[in-house]
Amino acid sequence: MMTTKSSNFIHNIIEEHMRNNKYERVHTRFPPEPNGYLHIGHAKSICLNFGTALLYAGLCNLRFDDTNPSKEEVEYVDSIKEDVRWLGFDWGDRLFYASDYFERLYEYAIQLIKAGKAYVCDLSPEEIRLHRGTLTQPGQESPYRSRSVEENLDLFERMRAGEFADGSKVLRAKIDMASPNLNLRDPVIYRIMRAEHHRTGDKWCIYPMYDYAHPLSDAIEGITHSICTCEFEDHRPLYDWVLEAVDIENPPQQIEFARLNLSHTVMSKRKLRQLVEKGFVNGWDDPRMPTISGLRRRGYTPEAMRDFCERIGVAKANSVVDIAYLEHCIREDLNRRAPRVMAVLRPLKLVIDNYPEDRVEMLDAQNNPESPDMGSRRIPFSRVIYIERDDFMEDPPKKFFRLSPGKEVRLKHAYIIKCERVVKDEQTGEIVELHCTYDPETRSGASSDARKVKGTLHWVSAEHAIKAEVRLYDHLFLKDNPEEDEDFTSNLNPNSLEILSDCYVEPALAGVNPGTRFQFLRQGYFCVDKDTLESGLVFNRVVSLKDSWAKISAKKGS
Ligand code: ATP
Ligand code: MG
Repeated sequence: MMTTKSSNFIHNIIEEHMRNNKYERVHTRFPPEPNGYLHIGHAKSICLNFGTALLYAGLCNLRFDDTNPSKEEVEYVDSIKEDVRWLGFDWGDRLFYASDYFERLYEYAIQLIKAGKAYVCDLSPEEIRLHRGTLTQPGQESPYRSRSVEENLDLFERMRAGEFADGSKVLRAKIDMASPNLNLRDPVIYRIMRAEHHRTGDKWCIYPMYDYAHPLSDAIEGITHSICTCEFEDHRPLYDWVLEAVDIENPPQQIEFARLNLSHTVMSKRKLRQLVEKGFVNGWDDPRMPTISGLRRRGYTPEAMRDFCERIGVAKANSVVDIAYLEHCIREDLNRRAPRVMAVLRPLKLVIDNYPEDRVEMLDAQNNPESPDMGSRRIPFSRVIYIERDDFMEDPPKKFFRLSPGKEVRLKHAYIIKCERVVKDEQTGEIVELHCTYDPETRSGASSDARKVKGTLHWVSAEHAIKAEVRLYDHLFLKDNPEEDEDFTSNLNPNSLEILSDCYVEPALAGVNPGTRFQFLRQGYFCVDKDTLESGLVFNRVVSLKDSWAKISAKKGS
């Protein structure tokens, strides 16, 4: 497995820590909440956490932050494991759940109460909010703040025992209601909630809050560097407070970095879930989704995703990365790796009148000129073929070098043909067939092949081609930043999916497995969809050939 080589500010901090002996080893963790499928933003966090551990010969844990039972499901746990593995990372025997620590978190809470650093509060959630104050006004102390240690211990034990109704009491850290940091104004650290937990069932009716459970889970696992996104910067004083309050030796260091935002999509699990639940997309792994499972189904490779995460870098300042950059990365990867084949997406029948009716020639075709070691294959050529409808124009403009009446083009890997006649549907006037002649002296690679023509078209032999469905994808949202409007779904692109059901691919593609990727000559990169197993060949367009990133980055001067 490749490690991250370029350095970033987090690596600089880690190296400083090693130099001054704050830590002698590096231990990170990726802590997803199992309340949805992972997206490309999580991929950035995964690459950073696992990549950093690899770089310093350290360890990285996978930890499910499952402290909020009402939203979490086993389906999500399984998908997250699959996605991390697919990206190429290995947590070894260090798969953990915050719920594994419920008992210890409870004991730490007892310790806090005994030290006079936590109290049971009977204010309602609404009252707690009103007491909290604002950025300019200090908060107001709860009337329950001065309860004795004995009373707090008794009440907290009875909270656990289920004596009180949901929401009627909470355990709060006793910090400072006048702190300029609102997170330190006696934050709630336990609440009562009767909800079935996917791992602990109904064993608990009190659940720890994230800001309390997270630092302690890190400490229990011996994490050194707790890397998270910038919205937690204001929570760091609380993170540190919790660890100090329970006397954790050599506590982990929280470090924040800017989350990844991508143009033309949304990135929060909550919003992605809405897209799934309201049927705007066909599930979490819909190839238009920015989820790891969607991108995988679309045909992205783990290498391209890791490359993208590496190239966008790690910074403190928030920014939006153009989705064209992600597309650029997969294009670069598949340019070298994907075999090039011919597929006709919008077929037009073409008959070569002077080609013998029963003849079939097998022509040599290189699989990828960028990677000669990928070898070659043979493709059948015969009298009736399909070409792309777009590649013919009856009245072409001047610079049209494709096929038109009386003009010549080369058929890729085959011969030069000339268009002699157009056949139209009598009723509709639609072009239904072309008649051409071929020049037998011009077979590609033959010594007699001396003529040059401007255009080269892809084609498939009608008799031998396999029918396929091809799904073309465009951006899921029309706007760069769909989230700037209240209802982000109003910015969905109505044309994000186009299904072409009468496509033809060359016979070499018979029996290909889901997940196999190709370049369809002149069109783009395509990946066999999992639906192939049920309904004949189905391809997803990963990305077209045209790279818009070069233009965008030139404009930005980067
Ligand atoms: P979402 O808002 O999408 O639900 P989250 O932060 O609530 O994301 P978690 O499951 O808590 O999702 O995230 C697990 C880890 O992934 C966290 O450390 C979080 O900081 C990181 N992460 C989440 N979204 C991004 C992002 N867009 N870019 C980088 N890291 C992210
Ligand atoms: Mg979260």
